[in-house]
Amino acid sequence: MKILIAQMEHETNTFSPVETPWEAFGPDGPYLGKAAYEGMKGTRTPIGAFIDLAEKARAEIVTPIAGFAYPSGPVDAKAYDQFCEVICESVDKGCDAIMLDLHGAMVVRDRTFDGEGTLIEKIRGIAPSTPIGVSLDLHANVTEKMVRNATVIAGYKTYPHIDMYETGELAGELTLRTLRGEINPVMHWENIPLLAQLLKMNTSVEAMQEFARTAASIQEKPGVLATSTFGGFPMADIPEAGMSAIVVTDGDAALARSECQNILRNAWSNKEQFIWYDKPLEESIKEAKNLTDGPILLLDHPDNCASGATQDTMAVLREALKQGLTNIAVGPIRDPQAVEILISAGLGAEITTDIGGKTDMPAIGKKGEPLQLKGIIKNITNGEYTITGPQFTGVRAAMGRTVVFDTGDAEIVITEKLQEPWDLGVFTSVGIDPTQKKYLLLKSKMYYRPIFLPLARHSIHCAGVGVGAADWKMFQYKNLRRPIYPLDESVTHIF
Ligand SMILES: [Zn+2]
Repeated sequence: MKILIAQMEHETNTFSPVETPWEAFGPDGPYLGKAAYEGMKGTRTPIGAFIDLAEKARAEIVTPIAGFAYPSGPVDAKAYDQFCEVICESVDKGCDAIMLDLHGAMVVRDRTFDGEGTLIEKIRGIAPSTPIGVSLDLHANVTEKMVRNATVIAGYKTYPHIDMYETGELAGELTLRTLRGEINPVMHWENIPLLAQLLKMNTSVEAMQEFARTAASIQEKPGVLATSTFGGFPMADIPEAGMSAIVVTDGDAALARSECQNILRNAWSNKEQFIWYDKPLEESIKEAKNLTDGPILLLDHPDNCASGATQDTMAVLREALKQGLTNIAVGPIRDPQAVEILISAGLGAEITTDIGGKTDMPAIGKKGEPLQLKGIIKNITNGEYTITGPQFTGVRAAMGRTVVFDTGDAEIVITEKLQEPWDLGVFTSVGIDPTQKKYLLLKSKMYYRPIFLPLARHSIHCAGVGVGAADWKMFQYKNLRRPIYPLDESVTHIF
């Protein structure tokens, strides 16, 4: 038995000015061939689970490619074509099953709004009867093309995503069972006209918890093989952006349809709860200033690079320093130009320079605004560390050359590459102990939860600047299906 395993992960923010070339998909571009196997085996990711399952089944494994890029603007067409070519060439050589670790919100510049659906369709064209199992992110903007061409699809049930491995296991097992003739998977997918906000997709509270729980309980029913609830990714100007669900049953199309609608009915009835409203930034910082016990998390969620933001806007730090906050750790800010200047000045040097604000954001009508700061270069590292927290556990993280710039009031971690604060390593690897700080300014939406929330006394959302903003009025949608809530307030939906 031969199993083909591949990963192609990207969440495209069509409003993001950050480019997504081939090189963005790994330390030096995606892992190819044996390097894909070696780089991803043992990781708690869907592809890690696929490899484990295939080895348990004593299958011959081929891993043509594995690539994961941070959310950013539309993927470069050449990079996408190369992904498709490498995977399709490998499929063409023949295999018994295919397992794909995909995100499900990839937009390709000048090519397609649906990178994943288009890829799976190409594969299906080469291998018309081979089982294709797909894992997707909870933020997938699922399309009819993905569902029509895949055999089984399973999505993460948690946000923050701490069940990546389990999702891969589920999709992979169902693929193997299909191959053995034990099951006959039938999928039903539907979406609702709801553009939910990322900050309201935390699966441990409120409406999203109910949405995810409803799906999990339906998965336990006889005849149901898998259920997935997709919050969707709202910063994507494509027709299918928004909330949807998939139910996979064993040969029962009517059951798949009715249970899928049951899951979505629940979400639709709570639609107001999926919308986020920001407080003014000055108010949030004032609130933080009045708190005595730290660490206090200042969450600059609009500039979260895991939503495609530039990770270099300075509005929150500017306001925090203006209001006199001290003992702040900030991190990371992506500014390769500042890294170059600070490294040239050398460890221990005192220097005044512009930090951040190097990227314009034309889609939201904002210019980059650097913050001029005086400080000491306290540390310089290669920016590498291994993730030990519960998300992406075991993955080697590369921030690029990294500098700690100490202004007296703030120790700022400045990196060459984008880096989500998804692990304590963003601070500990550069010699900062986050537990000793009064404030931790994190450009984070959700990944901070399993890592930083347990050590924090308080957390405050700060409406900084960025293309990951929760204010949907900031974005001009042209391709999104309409009407959709909350853009069109009076939209109705009949199941
Ligand atoms: Zn996600």
